[in-house]
Amino acid sequence: MLIEENIRKIKDRIAQVSQKAGRNPNEIRLVCVTKEADVGQIKEAIQAGITEIGENRVQDALKKYNYFTRHLTPNTKHLTPIKWHMVGHLQTNKVKSAIKIFDLIHSVDSFRLAEETNRQATKLNKTIDILVQVNTSGEKTKFGILQDKVLELVEQIINLSNLRLQGLMTVAPLVKEPEETRPYFQKLRLLKNEINKYLLSTRPVRKSLTSNGARYSLLATLSMGMSGDFEVAIEEGANMIRLGRAIFG
Ligand SMILES: *Cc1c(COP(=O)(O)O)cnc(C)c1O
Repeated sequence: MLIEENIRKIKDRIAQVSQKAGRNPNEIRLVCVTKEADVGQIKEAIQAGITEIGENRVQDALKKYNYFTRHLTPNTKHLTPIKWHMVGHLQTNKVKSAIKIFDLIHSVDSFRLAEETNRQATKLNKTIDILVQVNTSGEKTKFGILQDKVLELVEQIINLSNLRLQGLMTVAPLVKEPEETRPYFQKLRLLKNEINKYLLSTRPVRKSLTSNGARYSLLATLSMGMSGDFEVAIEEGANMIRLGRAIFG
């Protein structure tokens, strides 16, 4: 009951902040981060309308994924299939398992990881949707590629045949006031615009140079905003927010 109520409140807050920011709340995808939730809690969230699940460890995700594909209850069976998101740091030795279950990997932050993901995806004859994780605060303790290296990584990724780059992701620093996260979300939005401008400007050249030049599209996804700061993120253009504590308490 509590989870259901939390989700209802979150949806109200999303609607309110969207209206204030002149945005359509339906374009904001809510990823329910379940790293600290058990299957019972996740089931409750699904029954309350959650369709996207985020995990940050492949092993935990595999267990939950198997559970929910095997044990769909009468109450969840009729619901749209769940989409699985990898939001945590991905090690190259876990890529092979990860691409079997995840619909979107948010945390690609090196060419080495992109290359391995592409290699494993090619073996399975699959195309994998990914985001590039950017360390917008430059904190040493954070995963993600630094801002000034992003364009180079994007350039490398779009030449990998079995990856589909959908956008960017960031984790803002832990701060006292949500407002303090704004510059980092702003940075990610501007970075996405910059990359798209660059892709547009080089597209004709690219098409004539590469066989898969027409395959990639512009970046559309901005995955940013967590329980403590999602309203600021939405004001700054987030269209995918990742919430754990706000849902499970
Ligand atoms: C845990 C986690 C979240 C959710 O954080 P909450 O503060 O619980 O909302 C979002 N994104 C990532 C990458 C996480 O690891």
